[in-house]
Amino acid sequence: MSCHTSEMPAQGSPDDCSPDAVPTGPEATLTGWGRIDPSVARVAEPTRRGEVPGLLETAPLRGVIARGLGRSYNNAAQNEGGLVILMTSLNRIISLDREAGTVTCEAGVSLEQLMRIALPAGWFVPVSPGTRQVTIGGAIAADVHGKNHHRAGSFAVHVRWFDLVLPGGEERRVTPSSDPELFWATAGGMGLTGVITRAEIQLKKVQTSKLAVDTVRTADLDETMACLSDADERYGYTVAWLDCLASGAHLGRSVVTNGDFAAVSDLPVKDRRDPLAFSPVVRLRAPAVCPPGLVNRYTVALANEAWYRKAPKRREGEIQSIGAFFHPLDGIRNWNTVYGPAGFRQYQFVVPFGAEQALRQILERISAARAPSFVTVLKRFGPGDEGYLSFPTPGWTLALDFPTRTPGLDGLLRRLDDQVVTAGGRVYLAKDSRVSADVLAEMYPRLQDFRKLRGELDPAGNLVSDLSRRLGL
Ligand SMILES: Cc1cc2nc3c(=O)[nH]c(=O)nc-3n(C[C@H](O)[C@H](O)[C@H](O)COP(=O)(O)OP(=O)(O)OC[C@H]3O[C@@H](n4cnc5c(N)ncnc54)[C@H](O)[C@@H]3O)c2cc1C
Repeated sequence: MSCHTSEMPAQGSPDDCSPDAVPTGPEATLTGWGRIDPSVARVAEPTRRGEVPGLLETAPLRGVIARGLGRSYNNAAQNEGGLVILMTSLNRIISLDREAGTVTCEAGVSLEQLMRIALPAGWFVPVSPGTRQVTIGGAIAADVHGKNHHRAGSFAVHVRWFDLVLPGGEERRVTPSSDPELFWATAGGMGLTGVITRAEIQLKKVQTSKLAVDTVRTADLDETMACLSDADERYGYTVAWLDCLASGAHLGRSVVTNGDFAAVSDLPVKDRRDPLAFSPVVRLRAPAVCPPGLVNRYTVALANEAWYRKAPKRREGEIQSIGAFFHPLDGIRNWNTVYGPAGFRQYQFVVPFGAEQALRQILERISAARAPSFVTVLKRFGPGDEGYLSFPTPGWTLALDFPTRTPGLDGLLRRLDDQVVTAGGRVYLAKDSRVSADVLAEMYPRLQDFRKLRGELDPAGNLVSDLSRRLGL
């Protein structure tokens, strides 16, 4: 059975695609989630899909880029001096097939919106990053991954088709079989092949909206890696939260959480009546003004120590909400402001299995430099998909958040780039703020193919972002 639903007040029917002009609004200063590298662009906010082609047909000299909820860490969704198309008002869920678990929606729909509508019918998003404040367009463009990458791969694998407005303004339905090159250049292509306007996604069946979670506190990196390797065999979702400042015998100590969606019978009796209940709340708000330097090597060392000690040595079968398990940071509004006005840099890389020594050396280097990462996450990726620029590839991925003002940070990250490249790894474009074009070319073997396809698709260079300018994508 298929239910048609329109969550948001309709401004024109969901299928109204009549071309129309949309006024491009005033200039705005935009940043990514890390709040560094601001740039000024005109912003257009279409409310009907039919308005998007016109925005590309009349692209200004400095070009156009789509923007979702701005959760990429740096400037992938910015376009200095050009036009940014804010997609968040194209946020209609067009249909949900409750039997097949497929949803068709506009590209500005957020993962939270999808969860709210699909969970009561027993369906969850196939892949969830560490925040649910991400649009479908942003999830496809970065080909996002989650704690289940070893089982489910990344987001694009679950996309049946998407509608893409090409750089010249023509709209095309793209499927992995009808147009594999365009599909896989767009998945992970950071908005540079066109503007996604809607998509059909295959959701994942769940019995409840809760997870049964096992937690293990590990003493060092060897134990952390062994624990994650073992967990991949047994759990759908695995991740380690690591203390990046621990050193010596404690290097790599972590709290590893593994889980799967709970069955109804796993829930406490009081929750069994409404096992699919989902009503996420934001409990805390970061202070409006945070002093510069609040997050530093001393405060992070204290916080890491406290959080590590607080974790149980081993706990099994704890029932957690979706928010607590997948998106703990979404519980604090604007948590990104705690880094102060200078913001922070995320650094996420993957090195292949077999390069464990490189991972160890990188951690040693970070710990020796006393570079304080507040959120440090280690995970194992399964097989990658065919995305030209998709980040995941089999191996160990580590994500770190460093305050921009960390002394010696630039030099440290350059040295880490070298180690990552030497080990055959890569950094994640959705988080990158500083890698050089030469280094990127060494990391992504299909970059030349991507550039070639872009050249053919967009000879006038209509699609441009601050990220693509820096890296010549
Ligand atoms: C707290 C936090 C945790 C995160 N955890 C993870 C994680 O676990 N795994 C992971 O993979 N990522 C993670 N991310 C990164 C995030 O999932 C991606 O950056 C995602 O792309 C953000 O989506 P968005 O809607 O905010 O897009 P934006 O940040 O606005 O844009 C990101 C890219 O998508 C493009 N884009 C957006 N909409 C469209 C469209 N309609 N058509 C074409 N291109 C479009 C933009 O041009 C840009 O290149 C995390 C981010 C945060 C803040």
